[in-house]
Amino acid sequence: MNNDSRKLIIASNRLPFVFERKGDSWKLIPGSGGLVTALAPVLRDRGGVWIGWPGITGAVDISDQLSFASNTAGFSMKPVHLEEEDVRRYYIGLSNEVLWPLFHDLQSYCNFDPSYWQAYMDINARFAQVIGENAGPEDFIWVHDYHLLCTASELNKIGITANTGFFLHIPFPPLDIFTNLPWRTEILHSMLDYDIIGFQTLRDRRNFIQCLRTFVDDISIEGKGQILTATVGGRSIRIGYFPISIDYNEFSQMAGTREVADAAWYIHEDLPKGKIVLGVDRLDYTKGIPYRLRAFENLLEKHPELHRKITLLQVVVPSRRNIPMYENLKIKIERMVGEINGRFTRSGWVPIHYIFRSLDRPELLAYYRTAEIALITPLKDGMNLVAKEYCASNIEQTGVLILSEFAGAAPQLKRGAILVNPYNIEEVSDAIFDAWRMDLRERRSRMKKLQSSVARNDIYRWVNSFLNASIAGNLDDFPPVGYMEPL
Ligand code: UDP
Repeated sequence: MNNDSRKLIIASNRLPFVFERKGDSWKLIPGSGGLVTALAPVLRDRGGVWIGWPGITGAVDISDQLSFASNTAGFSMKPVHLEEEDVRRYYIGLSNEVLWPLFHDLQSYCNFDPSYWQAYMDINARFAQVIGENAGPEDFIWVHDYHLLCTASELNKIGITANTGFFLHIPFPPLDIFTNLPWRTEILHSMLDYDIIGFQTLRDRRNFIQCLRTFVDDISIEGKGQILTATVGGRSIRIGYFPISIDYNEFSQMAGTREVADAAWYIHEDLPKGKIVLGVDRLDYTKGIPYRLRAFENLLEKHPELHRKITLLQVVVPSRRNIPMYENLKIKIERMVGEINGRFTRSGWVPIHYIFRSLDRPELLAYYRTAEIALITPLKDGMNLVAKEYCASNIEQTGVLILSEFAGAAPQLKRGAILVNPYNIEEVSDAIFDAWRMDLRERRSRMKKLQSSVARNDIYRWVNSFLNASIAGNLDDFPPVGYMEPL
């Protein structure tokens, strides 16, 4: 245990595990995402608590499972209970029908239902309550993501004085878009109750600062480099950018195993004709899948010489199925895949292979390892971890990454990737063609650059830099970082 007695309190919408119903009881599956992997050792070492919704509603007693999960993880997990109606208004409503689309610049997808706002504030207050029950005055409270923008102001209301930090995993929108939010000033003022606010990229921080200057009276912003200081009402708030990442070594080691190599070989054996172009996305309208399919169709129209020599393998992971827009998107994607395949399929060659399910880790790594081209074209994305995972898993260093310039990963990866505007169908189609015919030397040189950038800036560096900036006092420890040039 660390000598420093300050505990780390993490709060996120979900606890780091998933409950699955098994007959009359519940089975608990531990989370395996990058955030859990990176934070678990810190929580174990410092002593810590993770607070979040367990993902189930109603009067289900899960205390035994939670104790078991806490014992297994080596840190304590505390639940925030939500009822069906809370999920409908706070989670599906304000979080995913307002903040998610708006923060991804898709304002026309928003449902500004006035009843959502109160529910959002109530649940932020409920989170604050559970945090307050678990945090001492010396502890550091680190709150995550758009579901909990207003938790710090609720902590203030109940007299919690511990230091607080917030990290936004999704983009922060430009002023013209943020302005449409009916609760814009409330949200900005609440965010300023955190002691430190972290964004993914310089772009997001710049947008946020512009919104502060527009909507918050008498605010001054000073400094340069990774962390700025805002002063308002006698309080100072640090505002920085900390691009999140992956456990590079874990991905590259696992991708190098015999199991993954064999699985990769089988994938190519089943698709022997030419090169595989890989898309891996959660079912989400921000991921740009229909535009990507159009671009692939455009490629097949323009380059008949590629017929039988290229296959798009599109993995779509089911997500937010209880929101109608997501279900409609699924129908749209499946119709487009059917149309394109109907038009171009020839005996022995189907141009698009479509997988609608979640892959387990070895299977996913096998796709990453074997695909000659990764086509990652979100319309906007906080970071996009798939892009980084593809690089880490590309053991032979022969793959080409085509990446949307609107992904948060773009500034870090632009030296090795082919950057595209995902709305520009012709440009994406040309990029696939360029990737398809790129010579081995160039592919190697680009992939090496990509891998060294992701390896240097891994998830552990991300956790350390945020915690150092939060807990250490000295801004001089955080000079401008060269790897994050703006686009
Ligand atoms: N992923 C997964 N199963 C799959 C495909 C992807 O667990 O079948 C993971 C992938 O490894 C990555 C995450 O889902 O860590 C997607 O993260 P990303 O930042 O790319 O997008 P998000 O879904 O968070 O918007």
